[in-house]
Amino acid sequence: MSALRILLLEDSSHDAELIQELLEGDYRTCQIDLVQSRAEFLAALKNPEIELILADYKLPSFDGLSALKLALSFRPELPFIFVSGTLGEELAIEALKIGATDYVLKTRLSRLVPSVERALRETKERVERKKAEEALRRSEMYLAEAQRLSHTGSFGWNVTSGEIYWSEETYRIYALDPAIKPTVEMVINRTHQDDRARLRQILDRASADRCAFTAEHRLVLPDDSVKYVRAVAHGVTGDNPDSFLFVGALTDVTERKLTEETLREQASLLNLTHDAIFVCDMNRVITYWSRGAEALYQWSAEEAKGKLAPELLKTIFPVPFERIKAELRSSDQWEGELVRTRKDGTQIPVASRWTLQRNARGVPVAALESSNDITHRKRAEIERERLRQLETDLAHINRVSMMGELAASLAHEIKQPMAAAVTSAGACMRWLGRDAPDLSEARNCASAMVEAVMRATGIIDGIRSLYRRSTPERELLDLNEIIQEMAVLLRDTADRRSVSIRTELDTGLPRTTAHRVQLQQVLMNLMLNGIEAMQDTGGELIVTSKRIEHRQLLVSVSDSGIGLPTDEPERIFEAFFTTKPKGTGMGLSISRRIIEAHDGRLSASPKTGRGAKFQFTLPGEETRPESVALL
Ligand code: ADP
Repeated sequence: MSALRILLLEDSSHDAELIQELLEGDYRTCQIDLVQSRAEFLAALKNPEIELILADYKLPSFDGLSALKLALSFRPELPFIFVSGTLGEELAIEALKIGATDYVLKTRLSRLVPSVERALRETKERVERKKAEEALRRSEMYLAEAQRLSHTGSFGWNVTSGEIYWSEETYRIYALDPAIKPTVEMVINRTHQDDRARLRQILDRASADRCAFTAEHRLVLPDDSVKYVRAVAHGVTGDNPDSFLFVGALTDVTERKLTEETLREQASLLNLTHDAIFVCDMNRVITYWSRGAEALYQWSAEEAKGKLAPELLKTIFPVPFERIKAELRSSDQWEGELVRTRKDGTQIPVASRWTLQRNARGVPVAALESSNDITHRKRAEIERERLRQLETDLAHINRVSMMGELAASLAHEIKQPMAAAVTSAGACMRWLGRDAPDLSEARNCASAMVEAVMRATGIIDGIRSLYRRSTPERELLDLNEIIQEMAVLLRDTADRRSVSIRTELDTGLPRTTAHRVQLQQVLMNLMLNGIEAMQDTGGELIVTSKRIEHRQLLVSVSDSGIGLPTDEPERIFEAFFTTKPKGTGMGLSISRRIIEAHDGRLSASPKTGRGAKFQFTLPGEETRPESVALL
């Protein structure tokens, strides 16, 4: 044990020695700082190693009572014992009252050691108690702070005595003055009336069964505002085995409840739409699943939530998923068509729109996906495509059947240049077979031969293009050229019905961007119809072209034949409408479709007197071929 450090205020060195001897003899080694004046006393008082003060009452230049006062103000924790020969009863009481620990008369120094021992023990106890109190105070402060931060108060409820203890934060949650003593009745009364019966039931059952309980209910605060709280408590047996108490926590969950309510409201709004809506977090885990999603994908919200969207829906993306992710991150949105797998394994096409959700700091936290079923649209698209194909097939059949009718005429058309070629070839041979071959004449004949064969080839090419199933590109065309080509092709057919073909073409006609074969087909349909309308009477088929306003071009085909069926003139454009014994009724409906696909109009009108007139418009191009050449 280390030496006991004592501050001794004593003017008699004899007494000082005596005291030291006494303490050391009976007790422990001491190190004594002996002082006599106020200045020495004050200086020694500052030494932190001092553990005890012993003081005489009367000194030549100082006194014990003043020393006690100094000690109390500078080192209140140090035990202070008077050791004096003169201290009377009254002074002794006075000294103790002020704060001295004890007093020992020099005449009865035997009391010194026990007095010092007791004083040191008590001081030690006091210091420890103070430390413990300090620690408790600190931990209570921490607890109160934690409760405040977490909006969680604590409570104790002694079921046996009915007493309730609330922490500071619990009072704050209830917005009540901590001076108020809480009771079960008060708790019930402060509860929202719709929740009262339920809370009472929970508390009654908990106190009867002595089991843990959880209760969520609303509080009505003194200012009539409403708060949501959640109480959780478990039972403990008190010091007295008969007493039982609940210790628990009360959390203010208003904010969470309100957020939940808003979310629920939003969710019910989302449920109103038939769109399939779901939300995924950034790991693609489903966190929300609307009724529409339940209906479309057949998974219930319970089944879907918490699952990985790619695993649940086995989606087929139109582009690599990484691209979708990149687009989503850059523009917060993505839209496209997907194929999804439903619960029953069937696949379904959907039009989908994804929106990236960001938190207040702009960090992406979720993706909301809204989709709808496009099965019908897809089916309609397939159906449209099928019809389009059918139309192309019909148009082809129409052309081929027209060509059948034209066969004789075509044979004639080709035979004529071939015969011319043969004649030229004969003449050529004759010029060459002379004794003195006339090369110049022979060359002329050969040129005529080439020209005739080229004409035949041109006719064959024109026919061949009509026979092909056409998917040609649009090109810039001179409509006058096509009209003339068709007039040549149909000349023999017309001749055999005593019909002549006359063309009146506008040389300033703008060119048009169109499918060559399709326009050939329209002209052939209209011209053949006109020729057929005049087959019993003969007549003239007039084909004209001209430029009209808005850079449009207008082509008309008119005849002086039997005229349009008067009862339903518009029906002639319907598919399969025909008045001819061997007609197909396809020609005009196909022609109108072709013209409309080229942004033009095809119409029919009766002609004054006899016959009919068919007209179509087409948009013209900016420039004429000549001006192109000039450029
Ligand atoms: P088809 O010639 O095979 O009957 P179209 O669709 O080309 O099929 O013509 C439908 C109907 O329109 C014809 O059957 C005829 O009654 C009427 N029609 C077409 N062109 C003329 C015309 N120039 N004069 C009178 N009637 C016409």
